[in-house]
Amino acid sequence: MHTVVLGLGGNEGDRLFLLNEAVNGLLQEMKLVRASAIYETEAWGGESLSPYLNQVLVLQTKMDPEETLACIQQIEGHLGRKRETKWGDRTMDIDILYFDEAVIHSEVLQVPHPQLSFRKFVLVPLAEVLPEYIHPLEKRSNKELLKRCKDPLTVGVYSDG
Ligand code: ADP
Ligand code: MG
Repeated sequence: MHTVVLGLGGNEGDRLFLLNEAVNGLLQEMKLVRASAIYETEAWGGESLSPYLNQVLVLQTKMDPEETLACIQQIEGHLGRKRETKWGDRTMDIDILYFDEAVIHSEVLQVPHPQLSFRKFVLVPLAEVLPEYIHPLEKRSNKELLKRCKDPLTVGVYSDG
């Protein structure tokens, strides 16, 4: 069994519904170990305007990293993700943040996710679910990475209504 950490986010459509659909899709294939709270974040980069909902999940799977990527891309596709502009609005983006302690640099897969240490919307939920996990390249814990992160965007726990 492998432990995979996924970052989910979307800023288009019914964000809460889509996030739940993505989690349900993942749970068809993997076992949930831990889920962060749902956070709301200002849009990052590109020309996106509406705020994101973000969540981090820790899961167990028998799939290898490439199979996991195929699985998350299938779920993104189901949820209407269109790959148009980089960092543009999206209904659902699912990224592999960590895969066990693996370091992967292939054409289709970079693990740990290369943007992870620069983004508070990833580090805040990560530090909630896995504060002491050591980033295999940075050699620092998620908690430490969050403390050092200079991302100015505001990340807060989402309360519905
Ligand atoms: P982004 O998440 O960077 O905004 P996309 O979701 O459109 O962009 O992903 C673009 C490509 O990134 C995917 O087709 C995938 O092959 C590649 N990729 C590389 N590393 C990862 C990773 N750790 N998790 C998910 N996708 C990744
Ligand atoms: Mg992605």
